[in-house]
Amino acid sequence: MNKRVIMPTSDLKVRKSSYLEVNLGLKEHAMILEAQRCLQCKHQPCVQGCPVGVDIPGFIEQLKQHQVDKALEIITKDNPLPSVCGRVCPQETQCEAVCVYAKANQPIAIGYLERYVGDYGNIEVENLTKTQAKIAVVGGGPAGLSCAMTLAQHAFDVTIFDTWDQLGGVLYYGIPEFRLPNEVVKKEVNRLLDAGVRFERNMIVGVSVSLDDLFNQGYQAIFLATGAGLPSMLTIENMDAIGVFSANEYLTRLNVFHANQKESITPLYQGKKVIVIGGGNVAMDAARSAIRQQADVTIAYRRTQEDMPARIEEVHHAIEEGVKIFPLLNPLRIISDPLGYVSHIEFSHNRVEGIDHKGRSKIVDDPTKSNVTLEADMIIVAVGTQPNKLLQKLKGKLEVDRYGCIVVNEQMQTSIPHVYAGGDAVLGAATVILALGQGKKAALNIIDQYKK
Ligand code: FAD
Ligand code: SF4
Repeated sequence: MNKRVIMPTSDLKVRKSSYLEVNLGLKEHAMILEAQRCLQCKHQPCVQGCPVGVDIPGFIEQLKQHQVDKALEIITKDNPLPSVCGRVCPQETQCEAVCVYAKANQPIAIGYLERYVGDYGNIEVENLTKTQAKIAVVGGGPAGLSCAMTLAQHAFDVTIFDTWDQLGGVLYYGIPEFRLPNEVVKKEVNRLLDAGVRFERNMIVGVSVSLDDLFNQGYQAIFLATGAGLPSMLTIENMDAIGVFSANEYLTRLNVFHANQKESITPLYQGKKVIVIGGGNVAMDAARSAIRQQADVTIAYRRTQEDMPARIEEVHHAIEEGVKIFPLLNPLRIISDPLGYVSHIEFSHNRVEGIDHKGRSKIVDDPTKSNVTLEADMIIVAVGTQPNKLLQKLKGKLEVDRYGCIVVNEQMQTSIPHVYAGGDAVLGAATVILALGQGKKAALNIIDQYKK
């Protein structure tokens, strides 16, 4: 059995001070060698491992024959964003985890191949005459994009409304360019515009326009894909000290407003000794961004390093780039100097005591160790996000659960007639591929319900 291909990366020294992409993508000969390893298994476990059921052996077979465009045609039947998903999806816990080669620790590099197809394939997108109903999609992240694309492919007249000036949601404002360049997002989003989907930018639904306004404008159904962009903050002492930020704010300032560049009018409060609290992709992205701002960066996480929900690749890259990881620390209080600026943060220790119901280490306080105080002039909090409270203003009409997530039925319908929802707004902070899956599911139900 040939070994799995290795993803080439940019030079470590260069990338520590640059936002250029770290993973460089496979060259053609490496792509072919990897595609040739696939056994074309009859029972297709990889397809079952993919949340949107992409025909993985089908597209790999096309790659073997250098038919990249045909491979793209196959993937985009189920996933409109292969270049994005090839870069950010956790394949190691999905399709690759169940590939027959996974037992030997050499699964087919499905994500790398998917990225190749997205980057080098070309397809003609049909802009069908819009003979079907007018549908509004609120939110232009993965869930909204996938819903809109599926509807447009069935001749529905779709408009996406988003607060930002560009489509992509978190792909645009959250995930840094060194992992997902904005140009890559734009290229995939353009296929949607080519399919005749309209985009109303800078529109906050609930403020600029209400759901009733949209119905009055002739939209027959509305899909809410507003994400989970509201950062959860810690409830420890002194959280309002100067220098405490949510990871979302820090990343948005850098990614969208380029606050690190001299000509930017957006200010950036950049510490030299940064502590990031959290262990997910957001924590890694914030930490790796702070490294690129020449900071000394430590991640403090309450469980073990192995329990971190971030992608293994991200943790690996973060460590390579100089991020230190201190596991089993529980933040207690932030200490500020007399002027109110962050100067230290105090933690107690946790220890592992068995396994919890999710298969992670069960952690409890460790009273045998005395508290530790770390010096810091900036603290970035990345302990999760929730759906925006704006939607809860509709509460009473729109049913939400105790976490603020919109409640939907099997058809992705909310408690308001003709209003559907999906993605992070329903799931809470989840993943790109799950959001894509929900968008498509909602679209298929809308098609079923409103097709003339
Ligand atoms: P979003 O992408 O959040 O998009 C929602 C859109 O709706 C936004 O553009 C928002 O501005 C807009 N909106 C909100 N309210 C309104 C309103 N009232 N009116 C109009 N528009 C509105 N997932 C992975 O799979 N892999 C990763 O590596 C990964 N890394 C991540 C890194 C970061 C920094 C973050 C924050 C998330 C990451 N995720 C990752 C999670 C993933 O990005 C999300 O699960 C996914 O984007 C959810 O898609 P969505 O369409 O539901 O919502
Ligand atoms: Fe190919 Fe692995 Fe899927 Fe089998 S399980 S078809 S080897 S990708």
